[in-house]
Amino acid sequence: MAEKLVLVGGGLSGSLMSIYLAKRGYDVHLYERRDDMRKGDYQGGRSINLSLSTRGLNALAKVGLADDILKIGIPMYGRMMHSIEGELKFQPYGRDDQAINSVSRGELNIKLLQLADEYPNIHMYFNHRCTHMDLDNNVATFQNREDQHIKVEGDVFLATDGAFSAVRDAMIRNPRHDFSQTYESHGYKELEIVPNADGSFQMEEQALHIWPRSSFMMIALPNPGGNYTCTLFLPYEGEVSFEHLNTDEEIMNFFETYFKDAIPMMPNLLEDFKNNPIAHLVTTRTYPWVKNKSALVGDAAHALVPFYGQGMNCSFEDCVVLDQCIEEYGADWDRILDVYQKRRKPNADAIADLAIQNFVEMRDLVGDEEFLRRKGLEKQLIDHYPGEYKSQYERVTFTNDDYKEALMAGEKNQQFLNLLIENGLENQIDQENKIRPLLNEWFN
Ligand SMILES: Cc1cc2nc3c(=O)[nH]c(=O)nc-3n(C[C@H](O)[C@H](O)[C@H](O)COP(=O)(O)OP(=O)(O)OC[C@H]3O[C@@H](n4cnc5c(N)ncnc54)[C@H](O)[C@@H]3O)c2cc1C
Repeated sequence: MAEKLVLVGGGLSGSLMSIYLAKRGYDVHLYERRDDMRKGDYQGGRSINLSLSTRGLNALAKVGLADDILKIGIPMYGRMMHSIEGELKFQPYGRDDQAINSVSRGELNIKLLQLADEYPNIHMYFNHRCTHMDLDNNVATFQNREDQHIKVEGDVFLATDGAFSAVRDAMIRNPRHDFSQTYESHGYKELEIVPNADGSFQMEEQALHIWPRSSFMMIALPNPGGNYTCTLFLPYEGEVSFEHLNTDEEIMNFFETYFKDAIPMMPNLLEDFKNNPIAHLVTTRTYPWVKNKSALVGDAAHALVPFYGQGMNCSFEDCVVLDQCIEEYGADWDRILDVYQKRRKPNADAIADLAIQNFVEMRDLVGDEEFLRRKGLEKQLIDHYPGEYKSQYERVTFTNDDYKEALMAGEKNQQFLNLLIENGLENQIDQENKIRPLLNEWFN
């Protein structure tokens, strides 16, 4: 049995993975660049809330945390679309009982660190930044707050150090190592919708709000404090873009034109807009994920754009699959890591593609009548034939099916909807004698 497991990065996937390993009896050493989040400032400059769905919950359930996290989250049963005139339209995500959950990134990370702390075989080191990884000799170098450089040896290293992973940087210097990094032409800025004076929500609480404006959009996720974290996704350049939003007047005109109904709920709009940075959206793909005894996990292996709300969910699923591989292959770490990367890579690629596709859906199609008609048809199918018809969204968000299957199912689903529409069956979904044979024929 490999004794000493070193995790580089104590964010979401690092803290969860450390618990999986500790449960198996390993001597786990978790190194984190930042200070201990449990001390206070836990936003870490990143998005305040995240949507947690079935895959993430499944991963948390295995360490007994799912229920605790659901208690601090807010279920969102669908999208609430805000038209330019301020009209609202609600589109459910799935069946009436299916919701994604808005949870605080900081609180989630803290709960994971708290649980990790309960294991005597997990040792945590904060303010330790990995500056170098010697992949051939299994030695990582960390710089601490006192500017000391500490060399750490280990039997296995897991790189859970996020989208700009230092361990991955070392890997990609090796021959025949693929790596690509693609930035979107849009950046994003975080803003806020505040609560009413009595602390209540100013909009529907159990929904993800979207202001789709074709080439750009704003979204808002509820927080338990009654406020919403808003994210404006906008091109960097062009006619309507960040480059033209510099003065108070330009900013206010832009919001008056496109997000008028939100302005009264955003008293700090100008201040937030000017103070908060424009953040970037990147997709990274790389392979292999393993070199010698080091492997990439989470965003270090696959940074996604956030439009399917799956980056963390996918990262947590990496932990589940890696844990399954340990279960299957015992002490054979070469095998464990190799099977892990082969199982996960096609799925990580699929969700990266789906996330990019979903940006178009969110910013543009959710305001489109034909698109909504098809979504309505899918909803009827899901309600009448649960398990027999699964929408792509349902597969990604409410199941643990492989992402690559969800990607492939998308086209097949669209063809099936075409078949129903062309045969005039759109309003006869409840007629099982007509619809069930078609479902069987098409999907089996
Ligand atoms: C705007 C936005 C919205 C998002 N929304 C969602 C969502 O709704 N749902 C969802 O599932 N996902 C979402 N994501 C994605 C999600 O944030 C990531 O997929 C998730 O955080 C990945 O977890 P991780 O642990 O792999 O990386 P991270 O959370 O980035 O953690 C990496 C950790 O490693 C540490 N670190 C970095 N470098 C070093 C180093 N050299 N040495 C030591 N430590 C280091 C960091 O300080 C950090 O603690 C969103 C992302 C963005 C940007």
